[in-house]
This record gives sequence, C-alpha cells and structure tokens, in this order.
Amino acid sequence: MNDCLILDMNWQPVGFCDWTRAVKLVWEERAHVIKEDAEKILHSPSFTWKMPRVIVVRNAWVKHKRQSVPFSRRNVAVRDNSECQYCGKMLHTHQYTLDHVIPRSQGGSSSWANLVLACIRCNKDKAGMTPKQAGMSLLRQPVEPKANDPKYNFKLHIKTIRPEWQPWESWLYWNIELDK
Ligand SMILES: [Zn+2]
Repeated sequence: MNDCLILDMNWQPVGFCDWTRAVKLVWEERAHVIKEDAEKILHSPSFTWKMPRVIVVRNAWVKHKRQSVPFSRRNVAVRDNSECQYCGKMLHTHQYTLDHVIPRSQGGSSSWANLVLACIRCNKDKAGMTPKQAGMSLLRQPVEPKANDPKYNFKLHIKTIRPEWQPWESWLYWNIELDK
C-alpha cells in the first residue's frame, strides 16, 4: 500500500510507503510529517494521529538496487535525450508528447520499443499512422534502457495521485510507472 509520499531533504519525491512505515519513521524521528489526511485518523491505546500523506526524511535517502528501468514518461524522455525522435528538435517538458510508433489503433503496444518522445507538431502530422505510412523516419530505434544506468528515475508504484500530493502532481505525472 502506498499511503504516503516520501520526500528527501530537498523536498524531491523519492518514493512511497504505507502508513505504518511512515508512522514508524516519524516516531523514530527519522522523518517529519508535512501533510496529513484530513479524514483518516489512526487510533492506538495511547494516542491518535492523522494519517501521514507526505513526509520529509531527515537523512539522505538510499535508493534500492533495481532490476529494470521503470517505464515512465520521464524515462522515455530521458532515453530520447529530450529530442523529438522525428525532427530532432530539443524539447522542453511542456512540449513533450509521447508517440506510439505503431499506433494503438493498429495494434501498437505501450512499451519501450514502441513509445518515443515527439514534438506536438510531429505527433499531430503522424496522427494514426505508422512512420512509413506518414513518410516519417525515426532518429533511432527505441529500445529498453539498461537497468544500471543511473540517469533514469526510480519506480513509483501508484495508480492514483492523492489530493495531498497535488504540489508534486506534475512531477508524479511524469515519473509514475505506466501500464504496459
Ligand atoms: Zn518533431
């Protein structure tokens, strides 16, 4: 269960934990709560707590070793060097779109091999066509990155963004793990 968003000392999201772990971290003074749930109250014989929804850890956050690079919008953009994979233009985050190389309408999947970063214009021009049908070509063939490459972000196992996480919503949108 991912009840609580964990931020590092710079208030950057580093992961999620369930509320029992969040309470334990706060109890041990390894983290402090910055946002609580307005409705969920935790009761024990000696105290009541509002459920922590966002905590900040006091020490450096140790990332766990991973098996594969999380499949997120951000990591597709990182792999593609923030360049439109059709025209090669450097893009800012607000210009990012993700293109299914083989369109979903033609059976294309959401996967490392079929998703590329594209500018709004190329994505629009390509529409529901394959690159061949649209007369466009890819800068490079999209592949899954290597798990040990440190430039990619960690895994986020969440399906929905809670109201308390709203200040980090755009960050979470880009870093959340996508369904393949
Ligand atoms: Zn483009």
